Amino acid sequence: MKTRITRSERIAAGYIRKGDIAAFPTETVYGLGADALSDRAVRKIFRAKGRPHDNPLIVHIAARDQLSLLASSLPRAARLLIDRFFPGPLTVIVRKTKSVPAAVTAGLPTVAIRMPDHPVARKFLKLCGRPVAAPSANRSGHPSPTTWHAVETDLGGRIPCILRGGRSRVGLESTVVDCTAARPVILRTGAIPVEQLRKMIPSIRIHTENRSRRVKSPGMKYRHYAPAADVVIVRSPGEVRDPRNAAYIGIDRPRMKFRRTLVCRSSASYGHRLYAFFRLCDREGIPVIYCQQVASKGLGTAVMDRLRRAAHR
Ligand code: AMP
Ligand code: MG
Repeated sequence: MKTRITRSERIAAGYIRKGDIAAFPTETVYGLGADALSDRAVRKIFRAKGRPHDNPLIVHIAARDQLSLLASSLPRAARLLIDRFFPGPLTVIVRKTKSVPAAVTAGLPTVAIRMPDHPVARKFLKLCGRPVAAPSANRSGHPSPTTWHAVETDLGGRIPCILRGGRSRVGLESTVVDCTAARPVILRTGAIPVEQLRKMIPSIRIHTENRSRRVKSPGMKYRHYAPAADVVIVRSPGEVRDPRNAAYIGIDRPRMKFRRTLVCRSSASYGHRLYAFFRLCDREGIPVIYCQQVASKGLGTAVMDRLRRAAHR
């Protein structure tokens, strides 16, 4: 079947090709892209988002032949993960080539690479004809956008183009795996569950944050994924004393009436809907969001990671 390229995809890719920035949909969240090999273009992303310069970006590719532009070597673990999970919501970190500007990697000798599997993202990236560096398309510190409307709310007037797509299928960011050490490390839990990775690489471990040690994934030290409202994690909705001016999201249905309630049927659905719910509560000026904790397995691990970061001020 021939893939139909739309006019919007062509226009959005045109911005990247001429050294400008454009937001585009992916299966995890919406990204804000720029030519990954142009220092000048990449700097525009940091300006538009208000992103700290020491927080590196993930580089998105359309096809495997772009890997050699970015990676100076591919360790065995990286090759295994790429074979199994590209295209998909997994990011691998490997040593970079000289062509990757320091602005992309925040001066690190390594580069983060992902190949999205969203049909619009794939067509767009192919039309760009070069790797595209892209963090999530939100103002720095806000929850990642899972709809084009959320991108417009955060970045409207600050970026020249938003390529529309539907709601992001996963709704949580990619899992990031550092493949440069003998024993691969998960720097950020995400859309691909740890259990799946462990089946392929039994020795893989999850990075534990330790304030005294050097930060391995610079982005993880920032307050992230957080709404303006206070986020409070509860074991069950019954713990909440005063629901009248609060919102609730979780798996169990509460008996009390909250201003907003979202009951999810699984951790996957919780992850899929979490950021849009945070944004909805902010729009309505709800000051507190109670979030029910879920078991740390499958997508629940990433949901709990994001809830803890959002709750931590
Ligand atoms: P975002 O694109 O906003 O989802 O953030 C990208 C995440 O990938 C951040 O947490 C970064 O710190 C992490 N990251 C990107 N490149 C690297 C790298 N070279 N080494 C370690 N972490 C990275
Ligand atoms: Mg982000």
